Formats: sequence, C-alpha cells, structure tokens
Amino acid sequence: MTGPATRPGEADAARWEAVIGIEVHCQVRTASKMFCACAVPHPDAAPNTHTCPVCLGLPGTLPTLNRRAVEHVLATGAAIGAAAPATTRWDRKNYFYPDLPKGYQISQYDLPLASNGSLTFLTSEGPITIRIRRAHLEEDTAKLVHAAGPDGSRVSLVDFNRSSVPLMEIVTEPDVRTAEQARRYAEELRLVLRAIDVSDAEMENGQMRVEANVSLRLRGTEPFGIRTEVKNMNSFRAVERAVAHEIERQAAALDAGETLRQETRGWDDAKGATYVMRVKEDSDDYRYFPEPDLPPLHLDATWLAEIRAALPELPAARRARYRDELGLSPYDAAVIVADETMSAAFEVLRTAGPDLPAKELANFVSGDYGRVAKESAKRTAAGLVGRADAASLVHVLREVLAGRLSRPNAKEVVALHVESGRPAADLIAEHGFAQISDSGALAAIIDGVLAANPAAVADYRAGKAQAAGFLVGQVMKATRGQANAALVQAALRARLEGGGGEPA
Ligand code: ADP
Ligand code: MG
Ligand code: ZN
Repeated sequence: MTGPATRPGEADAARWEAVIGIEVHCQVRTASKMFCACAVPHPDAAPNTHTCPVCLGLPGTLPTLNRRAVEHVLATGAAIGAAAPATTRWDRKNYFYPDLPKGYQISQYDLPLASNGSLTFLTSEGPITIRIRRAHLEEDTAKLVHAAGPDGSRVSLVDFNRSSVPLMEIVTEPDVRTAEQARRYAEELRLVLRAIDVSDAEMENGQMRVEANVSLRLRGTEPFGIRTEVKNMNSFRAVERAVAHEIERQAAALDAGETLRQETRGWDDAKGATYVMRVKEDSDDYRYFPEPDLPPLHLDATWLAEIRAALPELPAARRARYRDELGLSPYDAAVIVADETMSAAFEVLRTAGPDLPAKELANFVSGDYGRVAKESAKRTAAGLVGRADAASLVHVLREVLAGRLSRPNAKEVVALHVESGRPAADLIAEHGFAQISDSGALAAIIDGVLAANPAAVADYRAGKAQAAGFLVGQVMKATRGQANAALVQAALRARLEGGGGEPA
C-alpha cells in the first residue's frame, strides 16, 4: 500500500466526518500566452526571455484573447458534463503582490466558462460522483525567486515568463469525504485533461496544482466546520497524505476542545505534516469588476457543438465499454484505462487479435506486457514499447491460450521481443520455448520419470498425495520447463491411478 503514512485514528474517524472541496489550477496547452503573442515558455527557459509590454503589465497596453485557451476550458466543461453560458465576460480580481504588476488578475467571476459538471470514478469503496461547481479561465502570475544577492543580502527576483500563461481553475462542490477520494479525484481529472489533450497535467512540474479545502463535522450532522486550505502538494500521493494528515490534525484539535482557525496551510512532504502559511480571518475582498478592456464573449452554439463533437472517447465511457461490451470487471477496466499507454496498447492488440478473449488480453496488457512496458523507458503513444509490434504480442498470447507456450516463458518472450524487436515466433523457436503439449511425447517422458523414481511411486500409491507434486516436478525438470504443467498433472494422476494414461 502506497497510501498515507498517517490515517485518521479509528476513534476520530468514527466521530468526525471530513468535508473536502478541491481546487485545481491547470496550465492549458497553448502556443502563446493568454492575452499577448509571447510564446508559452518551457519551464527551464532563462528568466524573463518570454515577455512583452502586455504580459509585463505596462500601462497603456491592451489584452487580446487567446481563442485556443477558451476552447480548452469549453472542452473540459463538455467532458465533465458542465453547462456553458450563452455569454461570458472577464473580470478583474484586484490585489497587490510583486508578481502581479497590473495590480489585478484577469479572471472570471460569476460567469465561468463551465458550471455544474461532475466526475464519476472508482475508489476502493466503490464508485463515487464528485460534483464540479465550475471551471474558469484566468491568467497566471509571474514567479518570485528568493535568492541571495551578491553581498549576501536576501533579494527577491521576478521572472515574468509565466506571467499571463493561461490557467484553468476547476472547483468541486464539497463532496469529497476521504483522503483516498481526494487523490482519486485528482487522478481522474488528470486522466480526463490528458484524454482531451488540454494539458499534460503533470503535478511534478506544476502544470497541475491541487489545493484541498478540508473541514470536519460531527458524523451525522449537517453544518460544515471551519476549513483549512492545504497547498503545495507535488504528487497524487502527497494529496492523499496531506489530506489524511490534515483530517487527523483537525480531529485531534477538536477532540481536545480547541477552536480551529480558517487558514491556508502548506504540506511538508518530508515531515509528513501541514504547517500554517497564513490565517484568513475573513474572506478576501478582491473588488471584482468587469474587465473594461475585453468585450463580453458570446459562445456560439455551433462552436460549442464542434468542440463537443471533437471530444475523443472519455475515460468513463471507455471503462463502461470495457465493462459492458467486453465483459471486463470494473476493477480491470479501471486499471487499464487509468494508464493511457496500457489502454492504447489494449486497443491496438484488440484490433490485431479480435479473436482473443478481452479478459485474457486485459490480463496480458496489465500483467506481462504492462510490466515490460513500465520497465522500459521507451514508452510510445501507441502504447507499444520500442520496436514491439502488435502481431508479435498477439502471437504470444495466442500460443499461451493454445497451451503451446507456458506463462513464464511468455513473459520472457515478451521481454526479448520488446528488447530486440524480433518476431516472437522466431524467439520462441530459437529458445526452444514451445511448450510440450503432445500427449504421446509427454507420456514417454512420464514413463521415464516413473521408472526412475520407484520410491515416489510407492509413496503415492501408499496414499502420500505430495509424491505426485514431486513427480510433476521431475517431469518439468526433464523437459526444461517446457511441458504443459496442467497436462502433465492430469496424465501422471491417470497413470498412477492405474486407469487410463497408458502410453499410446
Ligand atoms: P474561496 O472563495 O475561498 O475559494 P469557495 O467558497 O469558492 O471559497 O470554495 C472553495 C472550495 O472549498 C470549494 O471546492 C468548496 O467546495 C470548498 N469548501 C467550501 N466550504 C468548505 C468547508 N466548510 N469545508 C470543506 N470545503 C469547503
Ligand atoms: Mg479558492
Ligand atoms: Zn507577452
């Protein structure tokens, strides 16, 4: 289990129920920034190499809206079943900070591009639906870099590369109840964003930032408690650990009779604890007002329909198809769909081997093939690794199902094939992996083994059932593991029981 190091104590968990709402900021994939022609820089770009008067916030400049950024949020809305307004506008969120030279951020206040959507996904306690309140578009701020100056004094530097890069904010209703659900929600959202190609949504490099609002209430009661907002989680595992820790921290405080404060807390992954960043006594007043430099945006119905029509099969639909049409278990469907490389491989292999049972194919993709794929750095978009080809992989599975290749040998063939790109059939022949399923050949080998081991045969006849296992082992040894173990077992038993099984 890679879950949290700390879980809410059983007693606390019984008394308190967590209420959690999640806010995600996601960088949407565009070539240029949100309101100017500057290219969106690579995170490693040298500071202040991608700036212009607009994204530096110089007076007298005017913003021009990036159509692609709007489309990405509309596509996200369509993917989560949200509604789009007929007309939206942009609003100024006013606050002072050195990373925001304009003194305001252009965002959306009461007319987000998407509202009232949801995501449904599987957790260890079964499927759940989390309602999504809204998704809107806003601009990112610059980045402050705190460093030591030439004379050793502490200086803060501003890097404007990120200033005005388009960000989508996605906010849930407070529907999440456990740390695991929080992690699973974030994982599912990332899966959707990647499926619709809106973002790579890598948490590790800040393309996707997850914040969790956490409060507790007495189990069985309605009113929400005082919440804290937890930030700075850099992985899905960190989300689960941070929320679990925060639930436990709040429960302990409430059990001790303390009153919680509404505050923003950071997550220290090394310490495994949250810490206070700032206390929010009352809600921030950003003095939102409509952005006078951008006209309202009318969302044409045909434009929306085109965006909707261009959506690929979404993860939830794919899981449902795997379950309902292919007969996979909900768990297997979730495992395959959770990994784009695996589900792409599954699709390719199904096309190459439509005769193969879906369940076997799923096991093969998540098992033998999946392991090799994970270990190989050369994962490809098609889900096939390096020079692996679908025909060879399908051949391997077909041989296994026909009883001509043992599962351990199949694993080896897959690894060799991925490594070398050589046809699986050649590798099987070359390594002598072909499994001995010919009953005549097996019977001859079994006879030899029985003749060479009279003591074991006597033991078996005297009622020592374990002796059969030893004899099977001897046959496998004699065939260097190539005998079909199931056939050997049956033939041996028949031979020893004296009934059938006489050599043909
Ligand atoms: P803010 O304006 O401070 O961001 P919002 O009301 O927009 O606050 O809510 C932000 C997030 O916090 C949403 O996901 C919402 O569901 C969640 N939330 C609101 N109240 C609570 C609460 N008492 N406990 C946990 N989450 C909450
Ligand atoms: Mg907020
Ligand atoms: Zn610019």
